[in-house]
Formats: sequence, structure tokens, C-alpha cells
Amino acid sequence: MSSQQEPQLDQKPLPSSENLALSTRLQHHPYQAPAGFDAVEPGVHHASTVIFPNVAAMRARDWRSKAGYTYGLHGTPTTFILEERLAALDGGRHCVLCPSGLSAIALVDLALLQQGDTVLLPSNVYGPSRELAECFLGAWGIEHRLYDASCTPDELAALITPQTKLLWLEAPGSVTMEMPDLRGFIGVARQHGVLTAIDATWAAGIALKPFDLGVDVVMQALTKYQSGGADVLMGSVTTRDDALHERLLLTHMRLGLGVSGDDAARVLRGLHTLALRYAAHDASARQIARWMQQQAAVAQVLHPALPGSPGHAFWQRDCTAAGGLFSVLFQPRYTAAQIDAFVDALRLFKIGYSWGGPVSLAVPYDVQLMRPSSHWPHAGGLVRLAIGLEDPQDLIDDLARALGAAGMAG
Ligand SMILES: *Cc1c(COP(=O)(O)O)cnc(C)c1O
Repeated sequence: MSSQQEPQLDQKPLPSSENLALSTRLQHHPYQAPAGFDAVEPGVHHASTVIFPNVAAMRARDWRSKAGYTYGLHGTPTTFILEERLAALDGGRHCVLCPSGLSAIALVDLALLQQGDTVLLPSNVYGPSRELAECFLGAWGIEHRLYDASCTPDELAALITPQTKLLWLEAPGSVTMEMPDLRGFIGVARQHGVLTAIDATWAAGIALKPFDLGVDVVMQALTKYQSGGADVLMGSVTTRDDALHERLLLTHMRLGLGVSGDDAARVLRGLHTLALRYAAHDASARQIARWMQQQAAVAQVLHPALPGSPGHAFWQRDCTAAGGLFSVLFQPRYTAAQIDAFVDALRLFKIGYSWGGPVSLAVPYDVQLMRPSSHWPHAGGLVRLAIGLEDPQDLIDDLARALGAAGMAG
């Protein structure tokens, strides 16, 4: 039964209110706000219980269909609107929301992998994604193998076995910012009938169109650019294929994943300024990255749009923008303590995880410790910078002052 054929809620009349006790009248009221209200932002709906006009409507509605509502966990007008908008932004047809980016990664793994399967992860994968594979998937009989994100498609193909069911891609890699040969890797996966999922958080639906490259599943941490406020945790999984969406939706339901209307409304609000913010982050980050590259203390700036950065040619081929994130490799003569002192001396850059928000952030990383199993050829320390929406010259002044304070100016 479609929602048009269902009776309106006010057709289920209340007993006359004089006969009702105060406690009942506090719960039930006959007033119905007039229809036809419209505003720029959709309403923020909060629901666990969704009310049906009658039993027939309750039985007829299907939780998998967006033609009606069944239970708060399966969606409200606020979350349906956000899913529609994100699917359109990614160039997909379906989207499911998850309470964090990491839970969106877990959803993809749990929906698409079974005991005996193997999943391939890039060696520079978002750390908690590898942790999930090591600690849970392994215990459930799902093997993971790491591949070098800078390898060739042939080298990747050599890792594929009949058990390989899923290839995770990340563009660029977390912290070390290598841009992989997405087209080559996706081509190899398709040849072998392996599903592909991309963590496209960095691209945010703007810098890269993964479905146009042939990817099956696009995952985003909306926590970053889509929210833009550094005050929401949310993730999304977008697909073009109906059957794949169905598998994801069933797993989403079985795991009881849901998001709050307030958080969905915050992300909806962020979407209005997403393109403007992304362009501002991008322009500032490139200016600051080029300045950093000229400092004597710096061995290399890892920013996919900078010539010489790993995978720069793939960025040029596949991407149209670059966002606000890059990492700085310092000369090996500086100790880890000196690099920490540089980060501590920053004033506008705050120390904190995540990115995509209004305030610039800096985090020192020990790549060797993060990835004990893969070869990292650089001896110097690394600091990841997330460029916020401050004036880039003020940020450059902050970096210059902090380099001086840490004895790294010359
Ligand atoms: C932040 C991030 C995530 C996880 O998002 P959360 O909402 O913090 O769980 C996943 N992948 C990448 C690349 C990220 O940067």
C-alpha cells in the first residue's frame, strides 16, 4: 500500500478529551499542524516509534522501501533526505547512513565478506580499518592481506586468489598521502570478479568521482568535510547496484545502525557550503604546502597535487581538486622531540585528530610504528597538517614562528 492510499493520522479520532485524565491528555492531543510548511532546511525528526494510521498500513509497509516509515532505526524524513542528497553527490543511486565513518567501513566488511573470504587492504589504509580486519575479521575466518598502495596493477593482480572477494581502496592513503592507480586497480578487480570499495573521505564527492572509475561501493566519513563543523560523527555507504544495496541494507538493519536526526540535520546544513569550503581548504593547503616545501627543515611535502608527491600523476589523471590535507616529512637530523616541540609551539593550528573542520590541526605521526609490517623508506619525522578556514598567511606565520621556536628555522 502506498502512503497515498493510507488514511491520514487524524482519521483515527481521539475519545473526547473531557473524559481523559490529565496524564493521558499530556500524551495525546487532537491538534494537527496545517500542511504546507516549507523552509530552506527540512525538519529535524526524532523517532524511535513511528506511528501508523491503522494496522493494515503497519503490515503493508516494508522497512526496506523509502515509500514509507516503519521505525526510527530504518529512517525518518531527515535521514532519508540526507541519504538522497549524498547518493546524488557521489553519483550513486542508494545510500545508507552509519553512526561514524569507521562503522561504515565495518558495515561494508560485514555485508560483503564471509568465512573463508579474503579482503585486500592498502598498506596505508586508515588505521582502525586494518585494526578491524586484524581483530575481528581474522577471528571470524576472514583473511586480510595488505598490498602496497604504490604497486602496479599487475603486482596487485598477483595477490588475488579465488578467495579474494573485496578490494579496499583509499585515495589518497591516510597520513602518507600516496595517490594509488585507481583505474588500474579497479580494472584488475573487475577482471577477477572482485568487488571494490573506496574510502573516499578525502574526495568528499568533489575531488573524485569513484563510480565513474568503476568502483562498486563508495564509503565516506561525513565527520570530515560534509559536516564541516568538527562536531558530528557520521559515515555513509553509497552504491549504484540494487542488489549490492540490498546486502548492505540488510546488514545495516541486523547490526542496528542508525543516526540521530540532529546529527543528520547538521550534515544537511553542512552540504550547502561543502563546495565553497572544499575549494577554500584546497587553495589554502596548496599555498601553505608550497611554502613548507621551501623550508630548509623540510625534506618533502606529501600532497597529491604537488609534483613529486607519490602518485601525483594519478591525482592529475583522476582528480579535479585536492582538499585541505597534507603531510610534511622533516629532515632526519631533527629528533622526534624537536618535531613534537614544533607542533606544541603552533598557536593557530590545534593538536587533534580528524580534519575537514574550520580550525587547522597538526598531528605528529610515527609511520614506522603505525605500520610495522610495511617498509617506510624515510628516516625523518612526519607531521600531518589539516588546513582549516583561517587566512593562509596567518597560518604560514604560525608555522614560521613554530619552526623558529623549535630550532628548526635554518
Ligand atoms: C576519519 C576517517 C574515517 C573514520 O571516520 P570516523 O567518523 O572518525 O569514524 C575513515 N576513513 C578516513 C580516511 C578518515 O579520515
